[in-house]
Amino acid sequence: MDLAYGPDEIAFRDEVRAFLKERLPQRLADKVRLNHRLDKADLEEWHAILNARGWLGNHWPVEWGGPGWTPVQHNIFDTETGLAYAPRIIPFGLSMLAPVLIKFGSDEQKRHFLPRILDGTDWWCQGYSEPGAGSDLASLRTSAVRDGDHYVVNGQKTWTTLGQYADWIFCLVRTDPTVKKQEGISFLLIDMTTPGVEVRPIILLDGEHEVNEVFFTDVRVPVGNLVGEENKGWTYAKYLLSYERTGIAGVGASLAAFAWLQHIAATEQKRGRPLAEDPYFAARLAKIEIELENMRTTNARVLMASGGGAAPLAESAMLKIRGTEIRQEITNLARRAIGPFAQPFVSEALDEGFNGEPIGPDYAAGIASDYFNNRKLSIFGGSNEVQREIITKATLGL
Ligand SMILES: Cc1cc2nc3c(=O)[nH]c(=O)nc-3n(C[C@H](O)[C@H](O)[C@H](O)COP(=O)(O)OP(=O)(O)OC[C@H]3O[C@@H](n4cnc5c(N)ncnc54)[C@H](O)[C@@H]3O)c2cc1C
Repeated sequence: MDLAYGPDEIAFRDEVRAFLKERLPQRLADKVRLNHRLDKADLEEWHAILNARGWLGNHWPVEWGGPGWTPVQHNIFDTETGLAYAPRIIPFGLSMLAPVLIKFGSDEQKRHFLPRILDGTDWWCQGYSEPGAGSDLASLRTSAVRDGDHYVVNGQKTWTTLGQYADWIFCLVRTDPTVKKQEGISFLLIDMTTPGVEVRPIILLDGEHEVNEVFFTDVRVPVGNLVGEENKGWTYAKYLLSYERTGIAGVGASLAAFAWLQHIAATEQKRGRPLAEDPYFAARLAKIEIELENMRTTNARVLMASGGGAAPLAESAMLKIRGTEIRQEITNLARRAIGPFAQPFVSEALDEGFNGEPIGPDYAAGIASDYFNNRKLSIFGGSNEVQREIITKATLGL
């Protein structure tokens, strides 16, 4: 496959680079490069900058504010923003819910919610997983019972990423418990300020608040917040997941993380020589570089075959597995590269304005937490073991 860019693509790449040079705040890029904490205001700042340029909902159709890019342009944008250490675009509203609304939502839902996703009025979170319904998502039990022009929702969601910031949650709910489990699920949009919605933080071992439990007790949701048809939610859920999994491949971000790893390996010393020259370390770096290049080609191929939209299930599963494994290996090597400096964990050193005694070089503070935090990559969005099952079923018929 020829990955060489034509003149138009080179011009577009230069346009993206110029935009990033001018508009990506150095403060945000430094935070991303050093794996420091990004708060809600940081993420909103970057979203607003992209939105002002018309590049925030970049997978959206032109009629809803998308830029109408080709798959190659998407690939260029992803690579260049990654390499520039731009914050990631938070996907829940922009690249998970929006494609579902655009394809299956009512005109009213599209007109109301899509502009609010773009301008940051509504922050969304994802209410799929429940205790007892993770890999086996269709076993979910949160119920929605029709009562006049409302559904009454009861149940619990878990692992809700950044739910503490969210104004709205898109949920899978059980609307018919009497049929085959996939056939009794609906897709519901719930305002987080509705009485009966309670968000409880799950504080992780490193003290971070990234995920939550969300409880619903007799929550009344207008029927107008149902997406598509009642009991057809499984179809929409799967459509959303193929976007989620392709996004998780994160080629651009891995290229940037790898470039940073190369910098660290060239800076750190082993027996008086740069670590990058140690044969064992150099071989592991080379292996990642080759695998990253292979994934870049595969990602481009899948993007082109799917016209830049959601990848087919098996391909998106494949990208999810390879993308997360490569990223985890990069974080693993970065942790090894700084040796003992990966041991102490000074949480405050990840905050902006920290002026305490640094432990090791400036890049050390974020490396261990990045390593541990990224263990999640092979679990969320559907664990990699389950992705392998999807591939064997879809491609080998097993
Ligand atoms: C940091 C983080 C953030 C998340 N954010 C969100 C979010 O915002 N919204 C949301 O809805 N969900 C979220 N999730 C949930 C995530 O999608 C689930 O954790 C994931 O689907 C796995 O489900 P589970 O945790 O229930 O594990 P389980 O399903 O209990 O699986 C446990 C283990 O068994 C293995 N296993 C299970 N079934 C099979 C099988 N058939 N074959 C082989 N192995 C199997 C799994 O691979 C895994 O290793 C998040 C999870 C994490 C860790």
